[in-house]
Amino acid sequence: MQEPPDDLSRNRALDQLLGMDRPITRRDFLNGIAITATAAAAAPLFAASQGAGTPLTAAAQDAVGYYPPLLTGLRGSHPGSFEDAHALRDGQTWPPATDTGEAYDLIVVGGGISGLAAAHFYRQRAPHSRILVLDNHDDFGGHAKRNEFDLDGHLNLLNGGTLEIDSPRPYGAVAAGLLKTLGIDVPALARKTQNLEFYEARGLQAGVFFDQETFGADKLVVGLGTVPFATLLAEAPLSARARKEIAQIETARIDYMPGVSSDDKKQRLSRMSYEAFLRDVVRVDPSVLKFYNARTKGEWGVGTDAVSALDCWGFGMPGFQGMKLTKGSISRMGFTPAGYEDTGGSFRLHFPDGNATIARLLVRDLVPGAVPGHTAEDVVTARVDYSRLDQPDSPVRVRLNSIVTRVRHLGDPAAAKEVEVTYLRDHRPFTARAKGAVLACYNMMIPYLCPELPAGQKKALHELVKTPLVYTSVALRNRLAFDALKLYRVYAPGSYHSYFHLNPHVDIGAYRSPRAPEEPVLIHMVRTPCQYGLPEHDQNRAGRAELLNTSFETFERNIRAQLARTLKDGGFDPAHDITAITVNRWPHGYAPEYNPLFDPDVPEAQRPHVLGRAPFGRITIANSDSGGGAYTDQAIDQGHRAVMELMHTLEA
Ligand SMILES: Cc1cc2nc3c(=O)[nH]c(=O)nc-3n(C[C@H](O)[C@H](O)[C@H](O)COP(=O)(O)OP(=O)(O)OC[C@H]3O[C@@H](n4cnc5c(N)ncnc54)[C@H](O)[C@@H]3O)c2cc1C
Repeated sequence: MQEPPDDLSRNRALDQLLGMDRPITRRDFLNGIAITATAAAAAPLFAASQGAGTPLTAAAQDAVGYYPPLLTGLRGSHPGSFEDAHALRDGQTWPPATDTGEAYDLIVVGGGISGLAAAHFYRQRAPHSRILVLDNHDDFGGHAKRNEFDLDGHLNLLNGGTLEIDSPRPYGAVAAGLLKTLGIDVPALARKTQNLEFYEARGLQAGVFFDQETFGADKLVVGLGTVPFATLLAEAPLSARARKEIAQIETARIDYMPGVSSDDKKQRLSRMSYEAFLRDVVRVDPSVLKFYNARTKGEWGVGTDAVSALDCWGFGMPGFQGMKLTKGSISRMGFTPAGYEDTGGSFRLHFPDGNATIARLLVRDLVPGAVPGHTAEDVVTARVDYSRLDQPDSPVRVRLNSIVTRVRHLGDPAAAKEVEVTYLRDHRPFTARAKGAVLACYNMMIPYLCPELPAGQKKALHELVKTPLVYTSVALRNRLAFDALKLYRVYAPGSYHSYFHLNPHVDIGAYRSPRAPEEPVLIHMVRTPCQYGLPEHDQNRAGRAELLNTSFETFERNIRAQLARTLKDGGFDPAHDITAITVNRWPHGYAPEYNPLFDPDVPEAQRPHVLGRAPFGRITIANSDSGGGAYTDQAIDQGHRAVMELMHTLEA
């Protein structure tokens, strides 16, 4: 008799079935270093290129072939971009910095949309000013990151972070004005370029994947939102009671707090999680809680255990149809649900690379010649010339792979005429000076950059814990399995990624989304690492630790296994069908919003994002963190405010 295979060979066999041994593009880069001949053009990308005293232009971003949007593997906070920040937090010091001798009007820390917008607003008011933007990543845009793939000779794009123009309240004059200046006419472009019904028109629908570990059996059901719940769930691995309760939560008009006024209901609902509402008020079966737990993860990055029932009501989640809650927010609601409840939200527009298009348009405006073209449509297919970003003769310079470790006034903050900024490139410190600085970086890091800030402000900044999340882009040889299953979007409450869907169909400028099922296609997957049951920020911290300790190999194995299990009845073969994987990990993702379950109920002016953003001499603070909401309009508005505050000081 043959001996049964040991665990190791069983795992190896499983890995082979999943395709872990297949040569896809993610293996061309090992921790950011190009290792194959085909990637040779991009090899200088991470090369140590700038020694002390060497000209600043001899940098990685100037090398021929430097084009980070095409990189696959671990992206987002990619290896090499954050380690020095953590070392700074842990008390590391560096040898004396080399003075670059550079003097600017403004130095912006952080090249996300907020920092780039700040540079734009400053130049609007001081057209002859010289500005340096420093960012720790190998690409600009911050969360607004572009994932680019060449699939069988066709350009395919996905957002590696910031998905679309969309906010809980209409864009205000500043943010809307900037979009207009950049040539983005949201309603007109939305009408012209978005085909939101593309997949539905071909008979594809949304589905739910129940996994064995959570629900006892693997089962995909299709028709979420299109067929009655009783039909949809008929074959789901749920008890008859659980099926009935889900159908009731979704469709029945029941007042679960009869005799209580709307105001009192709102107060009560703001003090219990959505999970507690379902468990203790609706009194559902425990499996129903598991079905719903991930429903909040896309918006909040944590499960229903850490989001208030009232916020879920404001966001349009089910169960409240019969509760007779009057329209309108209360102060104990988060930024997102309160905004949607009060206003219905902003206009919406999805570019194929998400709001990376906004970042690219800002760079086009700031550094002429770096991004060819003239319109918000042609920018989508434009290839950025990264070597133009940091040229000595350019009034605005965008310096990548440069992490700032210190920002200080040269002299007494109340009277100083200059600030000095220290940054590391290839782990070597450099300094540059400016008349003022806008910190458009993660606000929770600012106390380490500016230890002389008042203690109360540093405390507030430390409290701005961001939400970790992962946006994974997977290239597939075709979408045949999806068509066979009549599926384009999946909610997977117990799986590694809680959601995935086919790339939204957008045709814009010269960019064409794939049409035929046989064509290669991208899918977008969302994972939000968090730890069930803890207060929100502790969940965020645990999720961040998990993210930074997860290897690409583990991500890849989980992605392959999840797609194989979900799509198996459609004939999906992970070994054959997956051609590239990009894991955009954002350990510092969404800006924190007020959460009534865990945060003190204080007026807006006393909340940490407001206390933390106080100007400090010639240093002012931007980023969506200081707006208290993870949205692009906040990033822009806060960039504008920080510039106005700085101008006020400079002109005083
Ligand atoms: C996955 C994801 C999806 C999102 N989807 C949407 C969406 O659909 N719509 C929407 O409106 N918003 C969305 N957001 C919110 C998004 O954060 C904002 O819209 C906006 O992109 C934030 O811009 P920002 O410049 O404020 O911050 P960031 O984009 O985070 O930019 C800050 C930059 O500063 C850099 N930095 C930090 N510290 C330093 C340092 N010490 N030295 C140098 N550089 C530093 C950071 O690395 C980063 O590049 C999403 C966010 C995430 C994470």
